[in-house]
Amino acid sequence: MSKKFVFSFGKNQCEGDGSQKYLLGGKGANLADMVKLGLPVPPGFTISTEVCTYFYQNGKSYPSELKSQVESCIKNLEKDLADTGMKFGDRKNPLLVSVRSGAPVSMPGMMDTVLNLGLNDETVQGLIEQSKDSRFAYDSYRRFIMMYSDVVLNVNTSYFETALEHKKADLGLDLDTELTDDHWKSLVKEFKSIVVEQTGKTFPEDPMEQLWGAIGAVFSSWMNPRANTYRKINNIPEHIGTAVTVQAMVYGNMGDDCATGVAFTRDPSTGEKKFFGEFLVNAQGEDVVAGIRTPQPINEESFNDQNKHLPTLAKVLPIAYQELVALYQKLESHYRDMQDVEFTIQKGKLFMLQTRNGKRTAAAAVKIAVDMVKETLIDKKEAVMRVTPEQLDQFLHPRLDPKAKKDLLAKGLPASPGAVSGKIVFDPDTAETWVKEKKEKVILVRIETSPEDIHGMHVAEGILTARGGMTSHAAVVARGMGKTCVAGCAAIKILMEQRKMVIGNREFQEGDWLTLEGSSGEVIAGKVDTVTPDITGSFHEFMEWVDDVRKLKVRTNADTPADAKVARKFGAEGIGLCRTEHMFFDPERIEAVRQMILSDSRAEREKALAKILPMQRKDFFEIFQEMRGLPVTIRLLDPPLHEFLPHDEKDVRALAKEMDVPYEQLYRRKETLHEFNPMLGHRGCRLGISFPEIYRMQVRAIVEAACELKKKLNQDVEPEIMIPLIADWKELQYIRTYCEEEIQKVFQEHNVKVPYSIGTMIELPRAALTADQIAASEKGNAEFFSFGTNDLTQTTFGLSRDDSASFLGTYSEKKIFPDPFVSIDEDGVGELMKLAVQKGKGVRGSSMKMGICGEQGGEPRSVHFCHKIGLDYVSCSPYRVPIARLAAAQASVKNKAL
Ligand code: ADP
Ligand code: MG
Ligand code: MG
Repeated sequence: MSKKFVFSFGKNQCEGDGSQKYLLGGKGANLADMVKLGLPVPPGFTISTEVCTYFYQNGKSYPSELKSQVESCIKNLEKDLADTGMKFGDRKNPLLVSVRSGAPVSMPGMMDTVLNLGLNDETVQGLIEQSKDSRFAYDSYRRFIMMYSDVVLNVNTSYFETALEHKKADLGLDLDTELTDDHWKSLVKEFKSIVVEQTGKTFPEDPMEQLWGAIGAVFSSWMNPRANTYRKINNIPEHIGTAVTVQAMVYGNMGDDCATGVAFTRDPSTGEKKFFGEFLVNAQGEDVVAGIRTPQPINEESFNDQNKHLPTLAKVLPIAYQELVALYQKLESHYRDMQDVEFTIQKGKLFMLQTRNGKRTAAAAVKIAVDMVKETLIDKKEAVMRVTPEQLDQFLHPRLDPKAKKDLLAKGLPASPGAVSGKIVFDPDTAETWVKEKKEKVILVRIETSPEDIHGMHVAEGILTARGGMTSHAAVVARGMGKTCVAGCAAIKILMEQRKMVIGNREFQEGDWLTLEGSSGEVIAGKVDTVTPDITGSFHEFMEWVDDVRKLKVRTNADTPADAKVARKFGAEGIGLCRTEHMFFDPERIEAVRQMILSDSRAEREKALAKILPMQRKDFFEIFQEMRGLPVTIRLLDPPLHEFLPHDEKDVRALAKEMDVPYEQLYRRKETLHEFNPMLGHRGCRLGISFPEIYRMQVRAIVEAACELKKKLNQDVEPEIMIPLIADWKELQYIRTYCEEEIQKVFQEHNVKVPYSIGTMIELPRAALTADQIAASEKGNAEFFSFGTNDLTQTTFGLSRDDSASFLGTYSEKKIFPDPFVSIDEDGVGELMKLAVQKGKGVRGSSMKMGICGEQGGEPRSVHFCHKIGLDYVSCSPYRVPIARLAAAQASVKNKAL
């Protein structure tokens, strides 16, 4: 038997249903579904997505079985409509069809549709006879020629629109509906000669030829630039293909008892439970969205400023409206989700043409999910799956006030969400002085950002760059900081010398107000009002369910008490990475740090360290206080020491003077610290091997702070002391031994004990490969592992994160591999992680704590992976904590731990 490629839907035969979206496309699958539910749907058939795959694999040709299967489905369709007597291509009583695209994932408006197919100079006469309405017949005919020429013959619609405008102008008419049959008839002639002019061929008269032309055009539209871009932005794979649905026409353009419209079963912007939609009388297809006439509200709930004076569908066609209300409720309870429906009313009778899960804003997604649980339509686990982590990210940031006017200048990439306004500044130092001294709000505008801009980014409300993609420095850093960012906005030109920015023909000086909307990438002139999200109510309830469902804990990466506080508010369950080097950079301490680095002897070094000790202890005390009751992982000093020294000669001289040492001595010391490849140099635990006194001081500061918390406030924390960059268990054993010694001393001195543990980062492939030795109590004795996936990715790929931006873009374009610093590379880095988990738990038992502290810890796909390999927690920047909580919950709904 030959393979089945075409599936009928109708009264006599209905093949397929809503579960077959990947075969029939969303549209085709749901049309079959609606037929089965007994809804009024014009019959038709769907050509499967497998034909699309075949089409592209075989030089745009079709499987040999297709022709006969399509022909027999047309026979089916005619049988279904037997009581009307309509036949495809029949001169007396022609059956017209629409040819519609439908991908498995909805891509609204991205591909093409042709309506009224089957008309030619002869069948149009049949249509006139049957409908007794020649105006309607010619209106349908001209629409068909326009759409077919556009979609299939690639003739730009503007030629036809111009001809139509001229006609109306000649006649002194405003509206399309005022044109008579004779007007349309003469336009049809004009349209056909336009086709001959533009293509050198006559318009195809044979309905069968028209049909195959349209089918081919819909399959071809799968690869049009619009669709390609949409797929890229929304991460929709190319291989899934589109289906083609051929469906009997119903007519919304047959007079004043006819209409066409679209509706949402709930408000897509607020989520409110109200039936909501628009329609047009005596119209067809996309007229509603095309903006030719102002659409009318379907009911009073759909009133807005533009349409509230227009009569509603409930008034104009009450019977059809009532039926629509009954049907939408049926559809919502069937799909158990908000639906976006398309309908047409022909001579007072309602037909459903499409239903799909409606697109919605983040706020609506949360509200609808929570409401539907209360309505017992869905359970809590399903509710958790109804909001995407990206939506949550948008939800948590301020939005533009929907009522505010906006003067849109340009669009860039939506790199980091939130709506913010501030004064334009062009460099990080100006940003800092304006904010700190003038108490201004600023937007940092740069061609692109680099690590030297961090201080400016930190104080700015938002960041706008002219170059760079979604993983550019600006984008990544801004997301980490929870700052709004619009990146890669090619429309802006920055004239650094003149300190101004040009967009199109408009100029902006430093100090002018600018607004950014990071969820849409909009760049707006002036200051626009924003609204802050309401995180009580539905959101609060939703997050409670999220926490009930998830198994993974979510911690935060925080170096300061302020960050810890924010993170705790967002639901962090501890700190997964507290870096200590930021504390060293503090202007008040850097001097002591530099003395320590430049010391020639251990005694001198210890003297400098003694100055740092109380400051570090204070830092830890404050962080512990914020995180009371929760675990806090502190990483001992990690970067190479020369990072703390000045780079320029001028600064080195100044420092020499300040420290009262000869410049040459300082310079020499700096030279000896120089490294060709600092990333792989004298850093991490290697510092702890060379200078035990540094780590001893840090461990003392940590444990003293915990003892103090216990004694003064009777509060507990669980300090987890983390040793970075371990490659071999002996490094850990050596460091651990002296750390333990120091800790015991502290306990004795303070006469109190606190729980603590010592573990390691797994950030080198060798550490992963020898994780059993690192964990074994008689060897490395690591009590926990934390996967430092930034370095682990760098060292597994042999790829420097800071230097890879310039070529990783090309890698993604050429589909070699995606940027591994965004989402964990499961095949390589992920395998190492899996291995380390197995080896670690193998020797210490399943209770051994494992987590991730790399940047990917807040990225939903990576969170899923961490769940799958059985980690205990993920750790991410404070603003991503709720997103990680949701991703963790979705991971546990989707798959059980391995
Ligand atoms: P899209 O995927 O862009 O929404 P559709 O295939 O839904 O495109 O077609 C667009 C519009 O054309 C529909 O909303 C509907 O109004 C109209 N249409 C499609 N098929 C028919 C039909 N068989 N009868 C009447 N109108 C139709
Ligand atoms: Mg549609
Ligand atoms: Mg590291």
